[in-house]
Amino acid sequence: MDRDDGSNRLHLLVIEDTGAQTNSLRELLQSQDGFLIDVCSASGLQNGLSELPAASYDVVLLDLPFADGTELSALKTMRSYAPDLPVIVLTSSGDDLAALQALRNGAQDFLIRDELTSRGLARSLRYAVERHKIVDALRMSNERHELAAAAANSGLWDWNLETDEVYYSPRWCQMIGYEPQDIANTPREWFDRIHPDDQGTVQQALEAHLKGGTTHFEKEYRMQHRNGNYRWMLSRGTALRTNSGTPYRIAGSQIDVTERKLTEAQLLHGALHDALTGLPNRTLFLERLEQSINEANRNGKHDFAVLFLDLDRFKTINDSLGHMIGDQLLAAIAKRLEGCIAPLDTVAQLSGNKLSGLLHNVQYFAPLDTVARLGGDEFAILLHNVRTVSDATVVADRILKALEEPFKIQEHEVFSSASMGIAFSSPAYTRTDEMLRDADTAMYRAKALGRSRYEIFDTAMHARAMAIWRLETDLRRALERREFRIHYQPIVSLHTGKLAGFEALVRWQHPERGLLYPSDFLDLAEETGLIASIDRWTIWAGALQLRLWQTLHPQHPPLFLNVNLSGAILSQPDIVDYISTVLDESELDPTALKLEITENVVMENVINIARTLADLRALKVQLCIDDFGTGYSSLSSLHYYPIDTLKIDKSFVKGMTSNNGNSEIVRTIVTLAHDLKLNVIAEGVETPTQLSLLRNLHCEFGQGSFFSHAIDQRSTRSLIIANPSWN
Ligand code: C2E
Ligand code: CA
Ligand code: CA
Repeated sequence: MDRDDGSNRLHLLVIEDTGAQTNSLRELLQSQDGFLIDVCSASGLQNGLSELPAASYDVVLLDLPFADGTELSALKTMRSYAPDLPVIVLTSSGDDLAALQALRNGAQDFLIRDELTSRGLARSLRYAVERHKIVDALRMSNERHELAAAAANSGLWDWNLETDEVYYSPRWCQMIGYEPQDIANTPREWFDRIHPDDQGTVQQALEAHLKGGTTHFEKEYRMQHRNGNYRWMLSRGTALRTNSGTPYRIAGSQIDVTERKLTEAQLLHGALHDALTGLPNRTLFLERLEQSINEANRNGKHDFAVLFLDLDRFKTINDSLGHMIGDQLLAAIAKRLEGCIAPLDTVAQLSGNKLSGLLHNVQYFAPLDTVARLGGDEFAILLHNVRTVSDATVVADRILKALEEPFKIQEHEVFSSASMGIAFSSPAYTRTDEMLRDADTAMYRAKALGRSRYEIFDTAMHARAMAIWRLETDLRRALERREFRIHYQPIVSLHTGKLAGFEALVRWQHPERGLLYPSDFLDLAEETGLIASIDRWTIWAGALQLRLWQTLHPQHPPLFLNVNLSGAILSQPDIVDYISTVLDESELDPTALKLEITENVVMENVINIARTLADLRALKVQLCIDDFGTGYSSLSSLHYYPIDTLKIDKSFVKGMTSNNGNSEIVRTIVTLAHDLKLNVIAEGVETPTQLSLLRNLHCEFGQGSFFSHAIDQRSTRSLIIANPSWN
């Protein structure tokens, strides 16, 4: 650009409308001695631009009418055409806005036409050129700096296309583990080391640039290091061309970007995988499932299945052995699950060359069978090439078998099993959540049918799942809508034949389905945890009701009320406070409230609820073990529990005849209870024979259809008033 040949000579191009100005400019400039300015002129922008390449100018003076914007757009065009050329703009007097716009758009200076002086013009031209040189020098040095920094890390290559020789810099050779003398000056040294999968794209990129299709060549590819591993390289280059545009040389740099690639891959891997087990996570699973669904709907080949897996009783393991063991168990299970689907060689390959495995994995999607952890103790498996039902069940069987073997975790031997649901692909599925939901539904069915098994989804299952879902929604609202009722079943003193108390049995007055019994909704209430709220309500409503009856119809001894407590309510930390509050508010004598806890609940939570039971006992409420004889507690362990009453399960009472085994069991229980100073309630008393046998055994209380079914509040009150005798 700088054509200064030692003398102070400047080459000026004036672009103007008419040519009228040029002569007066020449005149002005000529009077400058010691400073030679060659003035050329062009009329109009197009002519000006076409002038530029032919001669080398140092500076341009734009003298075009500004008012209609011509000059501004000319300036912009000029700047983009020759960004290195300083431009000065001539404006009319008083047009400050135009001047400002000119500067903003890259003009070095502006001069006002009517105020041009010879000195001012020359100075402006000179300064423009000087300033431009400085800026240019600065930029060059910056670029050089960057180049140097980049070069420290990059290998350089320079390919003479005419001789087909390539110069590789020492750094270039070192990057792939060689000394310069090891590498010949042929292109093959480079291209033969490129990963076969990448050779095509590198070739394409090079050709595109050499043909002039791209401004430069740039490509990332894998290249084999001397040690046999592949490294990721980034290469950039530019071709030099003859005047006719034929490339004769291409040169550029290459840097090793393996670290960055690996980080990228790991980030991607982290976002799509579960940290604990290393398995694909829900996101990746759903993505692959979606691809499978779309693919199947496109080609009509519905040959995959989703297997939804939920561990059985994982919570128990977690709670009893701790989360650390739980986590290790999950990781170990993940491994076994993978072993159940992946052909062995694939696994070996992945762990053998971790890097290329990782990179390979994130780059390409193949319809791989996928084991994913969806969260918690839930896993899902996507199986492809499933042509028959047994293609999927064979995997499920394999999994059941794989989980039979106990897991060795630290010093523990942990047993685990899983319930699975299988959904087969079908044109009916257009969304991932539908298919996953159905596999989930089938899994629930497998749980309900006894766990450690699998079920295949069918539409009846869907209907059932919908019904349960509706029930659950209704159940959640039932409390606020006050749809629960208590029915009272009389408990009779076998000694006097008189009414002694009641058991509160909950009922649900469903708005559409009518009166529902516990068997219709308690399982679900337990599963959803709603049972605790129901129990709370029953305690509260029952206590108030009993207190009312006691006040209205005093009896001696006072009537008592048995209320059933679930395991869930017993593990609520404030349950003792709650019951204490209910007693205060109802002003009920605590000894009139008897809490029934089933033998199984007591047994499964001995440690956890011992404190609660002791605290309840301190409130002076009574405690009763329900369904006694059905659980595993030994009779001798009874004295550990702070209880008052045993309730013999109806199954024993039912089978009682004069002198059979059941009678013996009942006799043993009653005798032992009495030894422990406990009283006994026999439930399920249906016949006079049972009644008299129980009386002979000195069982204190009886309950059952022989006396009365559970009856509603109004009938109960009538019964209290009638005060019948059962003899
Ligand atoms: P459970 O505690 O063993 O209650 C006794 C069940 O036996 C009641 O069934 C009762 O109606 C029934 N029954 C009464 N007399 C006879 C008879 O002579 N023969 C036979 N075969 N059965 C008789 P229900 O009312 O359907 O309650 C079933 C279970 O639901 C109860 O068994 C109890 O475990 C649970 N339950 C009821 N209400 C509540 C409650 O408020 N909270 C909790 N947690 N559980 C409750
Ligand atoms: Ca009961
Ligand atoms: Ca019972």
